[in-house]
Amino acid sequence: MNKDVIVIGLGAAGSAALRAAARRGVDCLGVEQFEIAHDRGSSHGRSRLFRSGTSEGPEYVDLAARSRQLWRELEDETGEEIVTIVGGLSIAPADSPLLADVRAAMDARDLPYELLDAKDLRERFPQHHIEDRDRGVLDPGTGVVRPELAIRLSVEAAQRAGAEVRIGVRATRITERSGGVDVQLSDGSTVSAAQVIVAVGAWTAHLLTDYAVPLIVRRAVLSWFTPRPGAERLFTPDVFPVFTRELDELSGWGAPVIDEYAVKIGLHDQAGFEIDDPTANDPRVADWELERVEAFCAAQFADLIPVAQHARGCMITLTPDERFAIGRPEAGSRIVTLAACSGHGFKHSAAVGELGVQIALDEQPIVDPVPFDPTRYTNEKEAVQ
Ligand SMILES: Cc1cc2nc3c(=O)[nH]c(=O)nc-3n(C[C@H](O)[C@H](O)[C@H](O)COP(=O)(O)OP(=O)(O)OC[C@H]3O[C@@H](n4cnc5c(N)ncnc54)[C@H](O)[C@@H]3O)c2cc1C
Repeated sequence: MNKDVIVIGLGAAGSAALRAAARRGVDCLGVEQFEIAHDRGSSHGRSRLFRSGTSEGPEYVDLAARSRQLWRELEDETGEEIVTIVGGLSIAPADSPLLADVRAAMDARDLPYELLDAKDLRERFPQHHIEDRDRGVLDPGTGVVRPELAIRLSVEAAQRAGAEVRIGVRATRITERSGGVDVQLSDGSTVSAAQVIVAVGAWTAHLLTDYAVPLIVRRAVLSWFTPRPGAERLFTPDVFPVFTRELDELSGWGAPVIDEYAVKIGLHDQAGFEIDDPTANDPRVADWELERVEAFCAAQFADLIPVAQHARGCMITLTPDERFAIGRPEAGSRIVTLAACSGHGFKHSAAVGELGVQIALDEQPIVDPVPFDPTRYTNEKEAVQ
């Protein structure tokens, strides 16, 4: 079998890449080791924060904006709601870099926002514990994206546009040769393509054993908190925006009650112990793993019961500089990696998938790929040798 493009891994980035390839009329195949929208990688748990003004920099604002457009098109095609915009509130002490970084990224792209002092915050958002030194940035373009729905709809759209999909099959080896790439699969077959896009998330170092980008996979947990009886109305999306909150000891983020689930809360430094074998990551969560997020909930929200519900294990994949690794690992390679999407990658994933396809097909990218170039590590490795 000879394809134009094979996409390995149909999670957040890979499902988007397959959709982008199929939309271009390219003969493409997607391969996924588990089922579509499964709960064993990095993309399960009903919701992800979609922040339009991200503190990581203007290049990430561009990725989020492009993702929003791509999902809006998918929403129009399917009648489903992938992203729900509810507004986003960043709260931190006035001199915090968090507020400065959010404002700088939004200013760089002329995005609107509102500045709030401690009095405004207390009046408008009484759910939060606010100190006199706190300030807020309210971003009207922020909300929540539904990860399982986005992945499923992307794969289905790709199939409608002609993509072939193989589920329950693992890519075991990738071999580049003159004129193409061979991919061995766990069912014993070999498939070939002119270009291969590797979007295997936490499994990247297992599949690309000589990948120059040093990756660390860390444990993260998903958890939700229930409003105290009588306080339910305080945490609905119309009055309780998505938030990020910096406190002295602990900093966290969260989302309102969406789709009748509870209030989702996590910590900024949520990346826990290192994971060697992503397939063995335990979905169950031990009580000790929840102590800090429960302490954060107790400190910040008097009207939530600070006992985590529905807790579940997840994984975060990071580069040392915590920037994504999107592109060819070395010049002339026929492989494109969509890697290390960190603890904030879902909101960018539709654009990341598209960017991977644009690089694979030598198209002019819509979003600048330079800040994400994986060869920043290849070059470092060569310098050391
Ligand atoms: C607790 C938690 C909270 C988060 N919160 C947010 C948030 O609020 N906002 C946000 O934007 N982001 C958030 N993120 C980050 C975001 O979810 C991830 O960056 C993103 O989901 C990563 O997507 P991915 O495509 O790289 O990986 P995945 O979606 O895991 O996809 C990789 C896929 O490759 C498949 N695969 C692996 N190896 C093979 C193989 N050899 N052959 C075939 N298939 C293979 C896997 O089965 C999987 O389906 C959070 C992450 C966690 C863990």
